[in-house]
Amino acid sequence: MALAVLAAAGWWWTSRATVRRESGLNVLLVTIDTLRADAVGAYGRAGGPTPWIDRLASAGVLFTNAYAHNVVTLPSHVNILTGQLPPEHGVRDNAGFRAPSSGDTLATVLQDRGYRTAAFVSAFPLDARFGLGRGFELYDDRFAEGPRPPFLIQERRGVDTIERARQWLAEAGEGPWFCWVHLYEPHYPYQSPEPFASRWPGDSYLGEVASADAALGPLLAPIVEAGSDGRTLVVVTSDHGESLGEHGEATHGIFAYESTLKVPLIVYQPRILRPRTVETVARHVDLLPTLLDALAMPLPDGLPGRSLLPAIATAGEPPDRLVYFEALSGSLNRGWAPLTGIIRGGFKYIDLPIPELYDLHADPHEQKNLAATDTARVSALRAQLDGIRSSGPVQAAHRESAEARERLRSLGYVTGSGAPPAAGHSEEDDPKRLIGLDTILQDILDRYLEGDLNGALTKGRDLVRRRPSMSLAWMHLAHLEREAGNLDAAVDAMRRAFALGAGNSEPLALLGAYLTEAGRAAEAADLLEPAARASDADTDVLTSRALALARLNRTNEALATLSRARQSDPSNAMLLVHVGTVELTSGNRAAARGAFEEALKLSPGLARAHSSLGVMSLEDGDRGRAVEHWKAATSRDPTEYGRILSLGIAFARNGRAADARACFEFFSANAPPSRYSRELDRVRTWLNDVR
Ligand SMILES: [Zn+2]
Repeated sequence: MALAVLAAAGWWWTSRATVRRESGLNVLLVTIDTLRADAVGAYGRAGGPTPWIDRLASAGVLFTNAYAHNVVTLPSHVNILTGQLPPEHGVRDNAGFRAPSSGDTLATVLQDRGYRTAAFVSAFPLDARFGLGRGFELYDDRFAEGPRPPFLIQERRGVDTIERARQWLAEAGEGPWFCWVHLYEPHYPYQSPEPFASRWPGDSYLGEVASADAALGPLLAPIVEAGSDGRTLVVVTSDHGESLGEHGEATHGIFAYESTLKVPLIVYQPRILRPRTVETVARHVDLLPTLLDALAMPLPDGLPGRSLLPAIATAGEPPDRLVYFEALSGSLNRGWAPLTGIIRGGFKYIDLPIPELYDLHADPHEQKNLAATDTARVSALRAQLDGIRSSGPVQAAHRESAEARERLRSLGYVTGSGAPPAAGHSEEDDPKRLIGLDTILQDILDRYLEGDLNGALTKGRDLVRRRPSMSLAWMHLAHLEREAGNLDAAVDAMRRAFALGAGNSEPLALLGAYLTEAGRAAEAADLLEPAARASDADTDVLTSRALALARLNRTNEALATLSRARQSDPSNAMLLVHVGTVELTSGNRAAARGAFEEALKLSPGLARAHSSLGVMSLEDGDRGRAVEHWKAATSRDPTEYGRILSLGIAFARNGRAADARACFEFFSANAPPSRYSRELDRVRTWLNDVR
């Protein structure tokens, strides 16, 4: 009798507390970059900025305590897709790291199970070169519409990304398919388009959040309308949040307070999940196990995450999960103390020279540091943290950096101490003490974007005087010196940025480009040689070396180097523009035209390809065609007016008055007077004088 009652109770309990699994469901993973949980309507934000996410949430499962493990884009997405923690997969920051080239990811597992797979990403940190494309039959990262701009990250509008995803989904049909869509709107700089700018005046971040949500509409509408007839399992989350000034941090990447570490997480599939709110802690590494569990698939071994389905079923199992987190950008790019930490039992411990402990229930805004008073809890949490930190490689930055540094030394440059010291940080190196320097970096950026180059330059020079060990400050200064035409100063600043940086190939590639620009191409080619020789050489390093070789008339080597870059980044249309330019310089006009046209096939709006084809048309005597290409170029990128003007001046100097006239007439008729008033005067005088 007692046994029967127990058995019946057991049956009742499990049946009530089980989520049905269903194999063959489609999976849509949506990651919205830099989206704070509390900017979402379903998480309490007033004013309805996110109606589409809210519709999913009201018919799905909303996690109120979901966490990322990193506060920057690349590592956070590696966590989601591999189900591993950063000490396990080794990706600790955006620059200088690559996703592992082996092992299971959500994409490889589903592809092995016969799923069609595609990813549509919207910004450079997720470029194919960083290795997240494994397992995706299509990895669409076509946001390179020109050369990489200084300071800003290349991105694609959410509506364009969604449009590409919808085209693929229409083709993928019934599936099963796995589609990952990444939107970038809420990331700085906040330039929300209409009507969102007017709807959220004075809060351009929220305007960007709203425009990302609106972009999702056409993708989500058919899924929401299908309700329980639909066969798509949707997960919406963000890679990290945004500080918006809290704790003195403007954006994200330095600290790991709730404003950047806590993320929205919504899981939607009405056939198997009933609407509910779950307060159990959920982590990004739980997503892969949860999705595979929901699809009734076995889990790969040895993952740190657990399926969230039991927690969804019972709203309480397991009672608590341990969240490991880290924020290493300050350490890797600025030479500050590394930040790691752990959340357990409602307490957050942040391990820094000045340690922090917060009671997240009583103090959700993390204003009262309990580390000095609750030392027992600090010791216990630190011991758990040590266990996780020591579980994998500490750094997997590009090995080429050491060799390249050595080359720098052999070329007579003083490289300083190399990598920042890994240990021995004092309270002076604590990011809480140094966040003011980041505010200055932000201010430099703001001034530059507003067009105040001199103001930015003054601040930049001041910053490196105050903190000469900060790689990122030197890199900012190098950009600014170059923009101001001080090439030697730019070379010097970039050299120092590279010497201080921890394995980041970006300053190395830029240093090479600056040297070439300064007429020191032989030095550049030499400097980049060891890094370019590596089998997994960075695309920018290869490009930089190719352009130096081209300047030295080593055309074949330049083309071979560009061809290697194209292998690692096949959708990058700018690489084809470089191929065209190298061919053109060495007199191979047919090959050059072919490369520019191929670039336009990859990226139809690519301004630089259009302006180069314009010049070729002009030289072929087809002036009408030239003007067409220049219109296309300048409508996409107004800075191309400057190039067409320079070209006209070069023609005029070389006695090619007719070609010069074509350039100047185009410039005179089309260039915006607000930006080019002086140049327009000079060009019109020339046109009047030379008749
Ligand atoms: Zn991000």
